[in-house]
Amino acid sequence: MDGQYLPMSEAKISVLDWGFLHSDATYDTVHVWDGRFFRLDMHLDRFLRGMERLRMKLPYSRVEIQAILTNCVALSGHKCAYVDMICTRGASPTFSRDPRQAENRFIAFAVPFGSVANKEQLERGLHINISDTVRIPPKSIDPSIKNCHWLDLVKGLFDAYDYGAETALVVDANDNIAEGPGFNVFTVKDGRLRTPVYSVLPGITRQTVFDLCSELGLSAAAGDVGRGELKAADEVFITSTAGGIMPVTKIDDAAVGDGKVGAVTCKLMDLYWKKHADPAWSIPVSYP
Ligand code: PLP
Repeated sequence: MDGQYLPMSEAKISVLDWGFLHSDATYDTVHVWDGRFFRLDMHLDRFLRGMERLRMKLPYSRVEIQAILTNCVALSGHKCAYVDMICTRGASPTFSRDPRQAENRFIAFAVPFGSVANKEQLERGLHINISDTVRIPPKSIDPSIKNCHWLDLVKGLFDAYDYGAETALVVDANDNIAEGPGFNVFTVKDGRLRTPVYSVLPGITRQTVFDLCSELGLSAAAGDVGRGELKAADEVFITSTAGGIMPVTKIDDAAVGDGKVGAVTCKLMDLYWKKHADPAWSIPVSYP
């Protein structure tokens, strides 16, 4: 933060930062697994693209940001980490309300790896509730800019807990499935994969599933996915940097397929984790 490496407990931002006051920020999360960053280039691309669209500027180049992230991980010592890079609008030294006068701020941190699904849920599959909450529309917030507009997703989570489920999916303005709190979703039907296209963050894990499918010769496409299609799928899984590919075996009050984690999901999970050691998909962190 502000050019210094600090213990997490000392990392604090001003209450006047527009990131805090107005969610005026973009960020990206990449993970480190067994001492290697997974697809860091793709995360940096998305982060820098988001900053540009929000008209934010930092005094660091892409190479310098990569070095800062690497230092954060190396200093933390975590071999499996969840690594964030954040750019906030910052604050104006004169309290101006003009966002052009704010000094944009960069924050990066590394904490132990965390997952949407815990070990038990990864083995038996998650129970998801489809919320009636509509994801903030792309005309309001461009979902390809990874953003902090999560009130709809958090409402979805509370709806899901009230229902007795473990996590949630929210819908788009046409009542098709959108995404969940920190993840995209896929269906598998007759061996073909589908994922929502509208009102979603184009996730790096989602893209990774497309890449794995082309390697495995599986058909995968993005398009509208209705509630009925999701519930009639043979298999459902969610994707996130926070956990990778994670099975879903119950939606609302009904089992998905036979209620067990499906074969296609297992195959993709297996290949996904194998790729973490592949130098074409990952780079090592050098620890002190
Ligand atoms: N959708 C939302 C709203 C997210 O916040 C995230 C990640 O945090 C995702 C989807 C999944 O994206 P990725 O696979 O890049 O982690």
